[in-house]
Formats: sequence, structure tokens, C-alpha cells
Amino acid sequence: FKKYFEIKVFPLKTIQNYLCVMHDVTERKLADQMREDFVANFSHEVRTPLTILNGQTQTLKILLEKNKEFDAEYKPIFEKLDNNSRRLLSLFNDLLRLTSVEKRKDLFKEEIHIEPIIEGLAEELKINYPLKSIRFTYDFRAPILYVDYNLFEQVMINLIDNAYKYLGALGNVSITTSIVGENSMLEITDDGMGIPEDQLHRIFERFFRVDASRSSEVAGTGLGLSIVKHIVQKHDGKIKVSSKFSKGTTFTILFPNKK
Ligand code: ADP
Repeated sequence: FKKYFEIKVFPLKTIQNYLCVMHDVTERKLADQMREDFVANFSHEVRTPLTILNGQTQTLKILLEKNKEFDAEYKPIFEKLDNNSRRLLSLFNDLLRLTSVEKRKDLFKEEIHIEPIIEGLAEELKINYPLKSIRFTYDFRAPILYVDYNLFEQVMINLIDNAYKYLGALGNVSITTSIVGENSMLEITDDGMGIPEDQLHRIFERFFRVDASRSSEVAGTGLGLSIVKHIVQKHDGKIKVSSKFSKGTTFTILFPNKK
């Protein structure tokens, strides 16, 4: 059976040699794999019946709306059913996305033109926020990124969707890219509610949502940013966030360029 080792190499200046330390991490690796497999299988199994429940609830809701008498009495019940089954479904969808990124061994990196992807997503996601008027501006000085198309799209969906979610009725989002040394830097800045300084360091943790009271008003699973971070790390990239409470937030990502 397979064994996993972590190898650390330390240069020894005095004797112009190297010290190599091997650490057996097989147990930890196997435990991680079992957890990932379990979450992936479980999410997959739950998602199918949940999708059916969701569809049936929608159908029942439409049928009830046609019958005025029933509608008044049952509407609140169906709204709760609808909201909660949607929440569960998005939770399991996010869990599946997270585990599938964790388990991914190889990326299909290619040079992609990001402008149509990003502008298209901003337009598409707008449909979910019909009452908001958000102005997007773009400046793509690095118009081509070397990334896995599907995973990059997931990063942008999560970040743009968060910008919509955590901006008020009116707001601005700027998305820029530039070349920084051997990397391409992507920045997405909004002038929304921002993130309190004392919570900023936890923002990429699984299930973490800023301040329960404000999060309960906006639907979410607390998994979006940890999916983003995993994807960036799979690309050997880096992500950081800076934010001023009630002023806005900037996410900065570095993707290595093609060598
Ligand atoms: P979700 O949005 O599902 O709660 P995320 O992992 O995407 O989960 O984000 C974690 C938390 O970070 C959110 O609950 C929100 O409080 C905060 N957050 C993320 N993006 C922004 C943003 N652009 N502006 C303000 N807060 C944000």
C-alpha cells in the first residue's frame, strides 16, 4: 500500500551540504482522504433526492398560487419549505464543489482570454439581484491568464456573487488584472459593507460567515471563499483580502504565468 512522506531540505552552510528530513504523514493523508471521500459521497447521495424535493415544492407552490383561497393560508408554509430546501441544496452543491477541488489531482491549465468570461458572468449573475444597481468597471492589462477554465470560472462566480450580495442597492465593483513579475494579478474591489478587521483573518475558513446577525439577512453557506482559496492554491497561486468596514473590500489573487 501507498506511503506518504513530507520531505524538508535544509542547507547547511558550514559544511556546504544539505540535511534532509523525511516525515511519514501516511496516517494524516489517509484520514484526510477518508473525510473527503465521505463528504463527497454523502453530498452526492443527498443532492439527488433534495433536487427532486426542491422541484416538487416549486410545482406545488405554483399550483397553490392559482387557488386564491389556499394560497393565503399555505403561502407562508410553502415559502419556508422553498427557502429551506434551496438553502440545503446550495449547501450540498458547495460541499461537492469543495471536495471535488480538494480531490482534483491535475489541472487543465490553458491560456484563456478572461474579458468575455468575467464580463459575461457579471451580466449573468445580475439576474439574481433584480433590485440592485451595481456598476462594473474593468481594466484588463493582463488579458490572458494561464488557468483551468472551469475552476477559474468558479472563482469568478463566487467573488462576483459575493460582491453583489454584500453591496447595498447601489454600488461599484472594479475588476482589474496586471502583470506582476512572474505572476498575473487579479483584483476585485467593491465599495460595499466591508469586513470588520477582527474577522478578516477567518474569512477563508470553511463555514465561516461574518457576524451571524448580518449574515442571516443574506443567503450563503460560508463555503464560497474557501472554495476560491483551494482553487487558487491548486494553481500554486496566492490570495489575500483587504477590507475597511463600511468602505469596501478588495480580493487580490496571483496566478503564476505560463513558463
Ligand atoms: P457566504 O457568502 O456563503 O457566506 P463566503 O465564504 O463566500 O460565504 O464568504 C464568507 C463571509 O465573508 C461572508 O459571509 C461575508 O460575511 C464575508 N464576505 C465575503 N465577500 C464579501 C464582500 N465582498 N464584502 C463584504 N463581506 C464579504
